[in-house]
Amino acid sequence: MADVQTTNQSILVVGGGMSGITSALEAAEAGYDVVLIEKNPYLGGRVAQLYEYFPKLCPPNCGLEINFRRMKLNPKIRFFTMAEVTRLSGQEGDYDVSIKISPRYVNEKCTCCGKCSEACETEIENPFNFGMDKIKAAYLPHEFAFPMRYVIDPSIVGTDDAKKCLEACEYGAVDFDMTETIFELKVGAVIWAAGWEPYDASAVEYYGFGEYKNVITNIMMERLASPNGPTKGKILRPSDGKEVKNVAFIQCAGSRDENHLPYCSGICCLASMKHTTYLREQYPDCNATIFFIDIRALDRLEDFYNRVKEDEKVTFIKSKIANITEDEKTGDLLLEGENTNTGEQVRMTFDMVVLATGMVPNKINLEDAPDVSYDEYGFFTNDPEKAGIYGAGCVRRPTDVASSVQDGTAAALKAIQSIARR
Ligand SMILES: Cc1cc2nc3c(=O)[nH]c(=O)nc-3n(C[C@H](O)[C@H](O)[C@H](O)COP(=O)(O)OP(=O)(O)OC[C@H]3O[C@@H](n4cnc5c(N)ncnc54)[C@H](O)[C@@H]3O)c2cc1C
Repeated sequence: MADVQTTNQSILVVGGGMSGITSALEAAEAGYDVVLIEKNPYLGGRVAQLYEYFPKLCPPNCGLEINFRRMKLNPKIRFFTMAEVTRLSGQEGDYDVSIKISPRYVNEKCTCCGKCSEACETEIENPFNFGMDKIKAAYLPHEFAFPMRYVIDPSIVGTDDAKKCLEACEYGAVDFDMTETIFELKVGAVIWAAGWEPYDASAVEYYGFGEYKNVITNIMMERLASPNGPTKGKILRPSDGKEVKNVAFIQCAGSRDENHLPYCSGICCLASMKHTTYLREQYPDCNATIFFIDIRALDRLEDFYNRVKEDEKVTFIKSKIANITEDEKTGDLLLEGENTNTGEQVRMTFDMVVLATGMVPNKINLEDAPDVSYDEYGFFTNDPEKAGIYGAGCVRRPTDVASSVQDGTAAALKAIQSIARR
């Protein structure tokens, strides 16, 4: 059972991505007790899965490391991974919350020696890499995971493999007596920073995602390019492991479409431009073609767009691709549509296609939770009439990390005001 003493002067932050981490740090550094909960076995959210950040193209782990250090140094923050809210009731200044923690089967004695993983034979799909590779059922979520601790998948509990993991651990860190626990909290304000999910690309049937191996999504591209990804950072075609020479990016794959996501996710154009730099870094001769409705570069990142446009190997074509078909023998992909600038038909073949799919906000999904407001697309709106629970980051709008950090800071201030008012 977690030993957490909180009062209605404390703040609960749900979601350990950039927004939630920022809210938690800002509130704690202002002197408030904060409990941060994250459903994954590690903090960092989607940012931990990115290879580089636009516009500077630096590794996201630098930014995360600084924040983890701030957290370690601040006794006002308690954080829990593999944790979710199961009940939330009350009102501004006085909430009762139940938190469920799922068993990790590895305790704090873990030194990350990896012996449990060596001993374990069962493999599972790697959730961090969107199932593009497999990992042992006793695994470290990723090399920079915070907390740096192994996890054991529940599927091996009670099996011979579980016994092997237990015997392999010299430190008494593997613990199959761990069970699901629930603990109760009292808090004065809640920050909902549960972020986003990638839109289900298979719903955009005419692009063949899930059917054609060489059609991937933008967030999968981040993993393909990452040194700790499924191909150790080498961008290779999923169907045959070949180096790519000619890659298409389809913008608004499901976005700005009444049948899917009617809104613009704001960052997808920049993400695809960034992906062309990943390609060019590895393959100086690789061609990249971006098919777009219109380019949106968050205003202040127009310079990044201009920089990418100067690359002679990157072509921008104004076109909504209508259909993709696969050559079954080669795995190549034929894209068809219309060039909306010239009116000409587009019929072009590529080795691999990256779908720029949008972001779907994670809403509060709890029975009997206090009422909060959402806009027509499901994004959280901070309604002054419903103060006490505040959205931060991509639950409020699809956006980049810099804006998520600003938003996390703003939500911390709002939460502090809720406490001060009561
Ligand atoms: C392909 C792609 C590339 C991108 N590249 C860049 C880039 O280069 N530069 C840039 O600035 N931005 C980039 N972004 C945007 C960036 O990913 C977001 O700005 C960032 O993830 C927002 O952080 P967040 O904390 O709001 O959400 P998230 O990163 O989604 O974090 C939310 C966290 O909450 C957790 N959570 C969810 N539900 C619950 C729950 N019920 N209980 C507990 N925890 C929960 C999640 O597990 C997650 O850890 C990119 C986005 C995409 C799609």
